[in-house]
Amino acid sequence: MVKKSLSISPGNREDELRWVLNKSKTYDVASGYRIAYHFYHSPLELCYEIMQQKTIWTALWKMKIPHNIKIFAWKILHGKLPALQQTHHRFQNNSPICRRCQLQKESIMHCIFQCPDSQQIWNRSSIAHMVPSPLCESAFSWWKDSIMPLENLSSNNSTLALILAWLVWKEICKRILNRKDLQ
Ligand SMILES: [Zn+2]
Repeated sequence: MVKKSLSISPGNREDELRWVLNKSKTYDVASGYRIAYHFYHSPLELCYEIMQQKTIWTALWKMKIPHNIKIFAWKILHGKLPALQQTHHRFQNNSPICRRCQLQKESIMHCIFQCPDSQQIWNRSSIAHMVPSPLCESAFSWWKDSIMPLENLSSNNSTLALILAWLVWKEICKRILNRKDLQ
């Protein structure tokens, strides 16, 4: 460990507060903004693994799919899709149980892939083999471990997987709005 010693200059000057983040030693908005920015934007090495995967996000934003589906993909990969398990976490009076099958909590994985209702849609598609296994913990793990290593993200299968996931989600939202088959 390096120890830095500071000499104290002699004299009877009173102590004073100094802003140490710029040369003028007085507060300015630019240096204040930098503090605030770094408070909310941690250095990359301190971020969660999910944020460190720059290649994943770069590839995702380059995909030739509508922007709203990219945003949807970002949400499921970050675990931010408002499936019932997520909303229950914030609003305790909302049941987390899947309203379609009534069998399990509606996690994002259950909602998009594992609910029997969703499985039927995937099984009828040409990319049924790309559905994550029930042991897969998160959409991010699925994408990082199963899709990225195998697929060129410009390939039709990756694109189709995201579009199908989005269509499943849209169908669920539509049913909720119309209150069909959910009670
Ligand atoms: Zn279900």
